[in-house]
Amino acid sequence: RTVYVNGEYLPENEAKISIFDRGFLMADGIYEVTSVLDGKLIDFAGHAARLERSANELDLALPVDMDELIEIHRKLVELNGIEEGMVYLQVTRGAPADRDFAFPDPDEVPSSIVLFTQNKPGLAESPAAKTGIKVISIEDVRWGRRDIKTVQLLYPSMGKMMAKKAGVDDAWMVEEGKVTEGTSNNAYIVKNGTIITRHLGNEILAGITRNAVLRFAQEAQMKVEERSFTIDEAKDADEAFVTSASTFVMPVVEIDGAQIGEGTPGPVAKRLREIYLEESRKAAV
Ligand code: PLP
Repeated sequence: RTVYVNGEYLPENEAKISIFDRGFLMADGIYEVTSVLDGKLIDFAGHAARLERSANELDLALPVDMDELIEIHRKLVELNGIEEGMVYLQVTRGAPADRDFAFPDPDEVPSSIVLFTQNKPGLAESPAAKTGIKVISIEDVRWGRRDIKTVQLLYPSMGKMMAKKAGVDDAWMVEEGKVTEGTSNNAYIVKNGTIITRHLGNEILAGITRNAVLRFAQEAQMKVEERSFTIDEAKDADEAFVTSASTFVMPVVEIDGAQIGEGTPGPVAKRLREIYLEESRKAAV
């Protein structure tokens, strides 16, 4: 596999990052994951815009401009022959000479940038989308700026492991009795035809897929309510689903052991998945 590291395209086993890199030492970094369908980038403009926002919120200098960024994405997709899969991008605050909590001067220590691809044939035809996934709820103990897409993914990884141990697929995180989001996705329920998903704020990541899905839902005359909801409300819902760049729209059929609706993917989730795949493929770059 060819990867991109700080201006160079290299075989993955030749790519190197300093042990002093603040991404490694302090999780001082941000990332984006853009999916690839038909060899093209899905929702690239949204991911690029969120990357800029994350960088601004953390006073982190992006080492490339947006034209270069799309070029690097496209070149890696081409070099690695990706038809369906993902491009992972990470920017960290570089490698100062010594470990120090204070940010280094960005003129002296440039940010690091790394991109690689993941080949996922069959991504759009995922078997899980046909059966739906099962989730448990766990307490959300992450930091207070979840709107920034940082590489601090330890708690979401622990949540995924708690789910695995419980014999299910994923976890929904709950704060002050309300669902925030999934470990790596936004969470939704459907009740009496209305799609309900938590409002944006510092408590959740503004999903690029969320943004597109809510737009498509409204264009299809579906009702959308952006507000928080409880696990009890979710258990009582007609449908549940999650969205992310790597899973698109994924039905949820069980929460904390309680079957949702018929225990199979519901019509709203199925329809939104179809619309999302169709429309985002048309707009892919
Ligand atoms: N919420 C969290 C915590 C995530 O990690 C992700 C994606 O990784 C999402 C939501 C979904 O965001 P997107 O649709 O931009 O992939």
